[in-house]
Amino acid sequence: MSNNLNLLAGKLALVTGSTSGIGLGIAHSLAAQGVNVVLHGFGTPEAIGALKQLFVEKYKVKVLFSGADLADSKQVLELMSMLDTEGGADIVINNAGIQHVASVEDFPLDMWQKVININLTAVFQITQHALPTMKQKNWGRIINIASVHGLIGSTHKAAYVAAKHGVLGLTKVVGLETAQTGVTCNAICPGWVLTPLVQQQIDVRAAQDHSDNEKAKKALLGEKQPSQEFVTPEALGALVVFLCSEAANQVRGAAWNVDGGWVAQ
Ligand code: NAD
Repeated sequence: MSNNLNLLAGKLALVTGSTSGIGLGIAHSLAAQGVNVVLHGFGTPEAIGALKQLFVEKYKVKVLFSGADLADSKQVLELMSMLDTEGGADIVINNAGIQHVASVEDFPLDMWQKVININLTAVFQITQHALPTMKQKNWGRIINIASVHGLIGSTHKAAYVAAKHGVLGLTKVVGLETAQTGVTCNAICPGWVLTPLVQQQIDVRAAQDHSDNEKAKKALLGEKQPSQEFVTPEALGALVVFLCSEAANQVRGAAWNVDGGWVAQ
């Protein structure tokens, strides 16, 4: 078995939502293996310029960037055409996602649609466009960053939980449709990871409970995550690198939770 370095160096990975949080951690882990990366997401031109420079200097890999809004299917197509001009992505990490917290009765339809578009429909569209080239090369990795909320529910997260359950369904279907090829499709289901997406929820909680940031963090973890520790983007990046390795050739259609024991309860 060849080592990861030889296998992955020079491949091209799209990591959606890699200007922040988990996606950024995954992009670092892949670039550290010599993988060329398409960074993607929102950010100021200065922040994006600095990020690209950091990756080029630190990892000596090719770095591209797209700011396509995944809520807009036309922009998703533009992103995929950009990848086509590079010969297509060998690795796709469908990571970008948003959250909206409200009870079902109060959930605005436009927010429902936005969450479904970004967290589920864009994953389908990107996968659909990436697959033919991967199949042609007979090698590819599609890794969807779902959530424990793809496996179980929580209150006030109807659109997110529905989208993430959908992502796991899609992962299984793509895993089956590629089962006799060198392309694999799997999902990772993180528990709480301390990123801007979760910090927003900590801020709301601190305000509601009239407590501070540290107490709100402890309350959040204490409620759901038995380890009482946050999962790190670095740990998720390491799992992505494993799923891209030859050792994972027969991991197909899986939903791999990394959640401090959340769904074991
Ligand atoms: P984050 O808010 O730190 O990063 C989200 C990324 O997505 C950013 O790069 C942002 O620019 C991009 N993005 C958001 N909306 C976009 C849009 N319309 N078009 C294009 N890009 C867009 O979030 P995170 O916590 O790193 O979450 C990343 C993924 O991990 C999400 O799919 C999320 O559901 C999932 N997840 C997060 C946690 C957690 O605890 N943080 C747990 C489980 C799953």
